[in-house]
Amino acid sequence: MNQTREIVQGWAHCRHGLCPGYMQEQVEAVRVETEFTFRDMGGKGSVPGVERSTVELLWADPDQAACPACGTPREITDQERPVYEMSGYDPMGLVNGGSSGFDRMVVNSEADERVAALEAQVAKLAALVESQGA
Ligand SMILES: [Zn+2]
Repeated sequence: MNQTREIVQGWAHCRHGLCPGYMQEQVEAVRVETEFTFRDMGGKGSVPGVERSTVELLWADPDQAACPACGTPREITDQERPVYEMSGYDPMGLVNGGSSGFDRMVVNSEADERVAALEAQVAKLAALVESQGA
């Protein structure tokens, strides 16, 4: 078994979605990687390399483990929470009861812009057809 420890950048957050501590905070973390070889796992012979490994993040400063807002133990991760393409819906809408609803001012995607341009063209053509038919 081989174990390496290094200080890395981590992100801490409260587990409760409604807590103000749910937003991620950058913290120092200790990354502990434990490697096991084939022989460590009871294998006979000489198979080179690492058979399996685990990675664990620990608090560099254990005083940061408690949520500053509610005091419960926080989670620590080596990944920043992703921000996906804006959809017009509140990303926390389901957690917050969905009260804010849909914001139509947010342009969802290029496809929405093309559809809007096509709808405008259809309206123009419909008006033209109507004027010629009458
Ligand atoms: Zn909290």
